[in-house]
Amino acid sequence: MANLTPFPELSYHDNQLHLDEVSLTKLAELYGTPLYVYSYSALVKAYNDFKDAFKTRDTLICYAVKANGNLSLLRELANLGAGFDIVSMGELQRVLQAGGDPQKIVFSGVGKSIEEINYALKTNIFCFNIESEQELYRINECALNLGKKASISFRVNPDVDPMTHPYISTGLKNSKFGVPFDTAIELYRKAHLLSHVQIKGIDCHIGSQITELEPFIEALERILELILKLNDHGIAISHLDLGGGLGITYKNETIISLNDYAQALLSRLNNFNGQLIFEPGRRIIGNSGLLLTRVEYLKQSPDHNFAIVDAAMNDLVRPSLYDAWHEVVEVKKPAIESNQFFDVVGPVCETGDILASNRSLEAQPKDLLAILSAGAYGSSMGSNYNARPRAPEVLVFQDQHYLISRRESHEELTQRELTDFFNLPPLSKII
Ligand SMILES: *Cc1c(COP(=O)(O)O)cnc(C)c1O
Repeated sequence: MANLTPFPELSYHDNQLHLDEVSLTKLAELYGTPLYVYSYSALVKAYNDFKDAFKTRDTLICYAVKANGNLSLLRELANLGAGFDIVSMGELQRVLQAGGDPQKIVFSGVGKSIEEINYALKTNIFCFNIESEQELYRINECALNLGKKASISFRVNPDVDPMTHPYISTGLKNSKFGVPFDTAIELYRKAHLLSHVQIKGIDCHIGSQITELEPFIEALERILELILKLNDHGIAISHLDLGGGLGITYKNETIISLNDYAQALLSRLNNFNGQLIFEPGRRIIGNSGLLLTRVEYLKQSPDHNFAIVDAAMNDLVRPSLYDAWHEVVEVKKPAIESNQFFDVVGPVCETGDILASNRSLEAQPKDLLAILSAGAYGSSMGSNYNARPRAPEVLVFQDQHYLISRRESHEELTQRELTDFFNLPPLSKII
């Protein structure tokens, strides 16, 4: 039976799994499955814990929108005072639509287009996190054309191994992200000479799902080294952005406590008086959400039992993409630990459409399963593969539940496609 300790908002009442005080069985009946369910209290707690850990300093928590960009979640975070880390114009538009403050937005990403830069300049975002020399010149030119001055920071690559999955390591020297550590000073000096950029900060983001403190400490020390050198060149840094990347418990990982994290960083920051910025995504929303799914069929092959469920890799791609582990829990509490082991798989026509392998589960057709830790990089990485509509999302608070995105309809799935073409003679007849 899965261990629920890392998920304090989950518990059984009358043998039925509840998130906060809401029965998941009831939610499945009301909204159908697959269904994303988030706990408002878990979200608020995760944000406030982060904020409180750094309360002795001027700190801005810029939630990484790509982890989960649902408008209602963004609005609640904005109301709590959060800023936002965005990586596209679409994310910027989402944040603005949700009422986010442009002066609390940092814009990361290696491929910012002219259109995206212009839009961000017009909305007066707080800072561009620049990831290459060419991007610096592009931003300067866009700002010149708009008669603005762009606030900038360089995302420096400290060449620190975060000891996480290679796909989510971003701070090694051969990474596509950030500018190489050794070229940073030269880039800042070039930026210093440009007319339409204003140097504000320095930042790094070394990876994701990090469970060791050392990589963060190493990265900070390298960045502090640079700040000193920049001071020697007469370049002042007013904020230090350490990115996101704090891991969560998916299975049995011991995670970094926010107090240890804050303690380790703050004790090294006595000589830096500027603002601190963090860009957490997963740590804020990851364990605030789950994916609820219903078993369609059980099926056996010589070596495997399959539980075929109605959620699939298009709803939650992390297991297929990173071989990631998500805990799977029976919604109806099993009387005894099952001695049956299942691969939990979806209906998508891919062998890689696996949500969880080899799990001890009590599962029968129509039973509900909760796939845990699915709040981050779940819904936001969802797709329509196999023409599957995207799953709805529900937010629970105490004993209340609120639909925060509807299930996608067939009409929505096809509305971008121009069926006028059907009325033209077939191309084969023209040729
Ligand atoms: C993805 C990303 C984050 C958030 O990472 P988490 O691991 O979810 O905290 C923060 N900053 C940047 C630049 C990112 O690309």
